[in-house]
Amino acid sequence: MKKDVVIIGAGIVGCAIARELSKYDLKITVIEKENDVATGISKANSGIIHAGFNEKKGTLKAELNIKGNQMYDSLAKDLDFNFNRNGALVLGFNDDDMYKLNTLKCNGTVLGVKDLEILSKEELREIEPNLSTDVVGALYAKTSGIVSPYEVTIALAENACENGVEFILNSEVIDIENTDPGYTIVLKDGRCVNSTIVINSAGINSDEINNMINKNKYTLHPVKGEYLLLDKVAGKIINKTIFQVPSKISKGVLVTPTSDGNLLIGPTAKGIDSKSSLDSTKVSLDEILDKSKKSVTTIPTGRILTTFAGLRPRLDYGDFIIEEAIDNENFISLVGIESPGLTAAPAIAVYIKDIISKKLNLKENIYFYPYRKRIIKFTDLSLEEKNELISKNPEYGRMICKCELITEGEIIDSINRPLGARTVDGVKRRTRATMGGCQGIGCLLPISKIISRELGIDITEVTKNSKCSPVIGFKEV
Ligand SMILES: Cc1cc2nc3c(=O)[nH]c(=O)nc-3n(C[C@H](O)[C@H](O)[C@H](O)COP(=O)(O)OP(=O)(O)OC[C@H]3O[C@@H](n4cnc5c(N)ncnc54)[C@H](O)[C@@H]3O)c2cc1C
Repeated sequence: MKKDVVIIGAGIVGCAIARELSKYDLKITVIEKENDVATGISKANSGIIHAGFNEKKGTLKAELNIKGNQMYDSLAKDLDFNFNRNGALVLGFNDDDMYKLNTLKCNGTVLGVKDLEILSKEELREIEPNLSTDVVGALYAKTSGIVSPYEVTIALAENACENGVEFILNSEVIDIENTDPGYTIVLKDGRCVNSTIVINSAGINSDEINNMINKNKYTLHPVKGEYLLLDKVAGKIINKTIFQVPSKISKGVLVTPTSDGNLLIGPTAKGIDSKSSLDSTKVSLDEILDKSKKSVTTIPTGRILTTFAGLRPRLDYGDFIIEEAIDNENFISLVGIESPGLTAAPAIAVYIKDIISKKLNLKENIYFYPYRKRIIKFTDLSLEEKNELISKNPEYGRMICKCELITEGEIIDSINRPLGARTVDGVKRRTRATMGGCQGIGCLLPISKIISRELGIDITEVTKNSKCSPVIGFKEV
């Protein structure tokens, strides 16, 4: 059956668009090459809902950052994900920095960013006692916040799915043909999907998808950002997101609590050739530690849990590209959606809806249900609530991940809900199982057995993340 809209890529941008469009009576399909949503850039970033003070006036980045930031309170309420407006501090270490911070404040005020303030060293001490004594002042942005980027993406996708959006996973788009009227999208396994409108939100590959059909060609340059993640004890040393004065190529190394209570430091910014290189290097990790200790000298390095990296889809152009192909009507490309793409995603979705409303007669989806409930977090319940839940469902009485205190009931829910987990990492992103001190050494096998049982597949078919990572019999060569 021909679709009204096909969205390529199930990151935060694709999923936000899918959910926004599901408010209308449309046949919508999201096509994703991986086995889950939120496995690309939207999995590995800083998770900051930026205030927007350092974007350039007149750019889409500035406009959509500020609009997106303002949408997060109601989105978090409707979709039941963690969102904490913890505020951000940009630190100054000398007069030159303070001059730049005042310039940033003026820039932000012109853009319409609310609640920007310059704080003195003494005022900073009051709110962040663990900052370096070398700090002389800071720009305080109260509207900055933190989320788990994959939690938001999953929440958007689940709600879109409940509202009728079809998700085709494990399906790479390899070609697009203009089959006027509309398009034929060719998948790697030979299947084809036909659609009136195509939206390209393929993240780091959005240039390749764009270049299949748009006369305007783009080339993305991956810029790798590496991080160190520390445990929840370390997460308590700071309350706000701590930046240093940004450079031309990045917002610099930050120190921030995460929305789950860990401490995150990073990222680096290194241009690379490969679109798939996500390894961590000792040089980069040393650089992160060095730079972050300039802000917070007492970073507890003994509490590092893991490292990870994400790729910025950098364009020389300097702004988001959101455009209809000049030679192919109804093909809309989103290219170069780097930071603040996570912040801007809900506003990008409305921007795309407005474009589509000029093409199709959008009728309200009278069945649209805006709410989604998160997986029950057993450890957050009172003793009475825990006992009641266990008496109804004994699976909540079996603790599987002993570091993060995740029960079998939560894992089963993560597998059986809409767009449920199919891999151990899918369970991880939905429940936090394997994210604690042992990093899955204790619970990888029990989780794999639950996946095997719930999906009715042999344990040898259960994977950690991709097809090439079976949990049983995997040998690194
Ligand atoms: C280091 C770093 C830090 C960042 N920090 C922040 C921050 O703090 N705040 C903020 O607002 N923004 C931040 N960003 C930016 C933000 O993460 C991105 O803008 C956002 O995640 C991009 O989402 P996306 O949906 O466009 O891309 P993705 O999440 O990558 O989604 C694209 C999807 O398309 C799929 N795909 C690709 N090719 C194909 C194909 N041929 N067929 C089918 N599917 C395909 C991919 O598998 C992927 O799932 C950061 C980015 C990086 C890299």
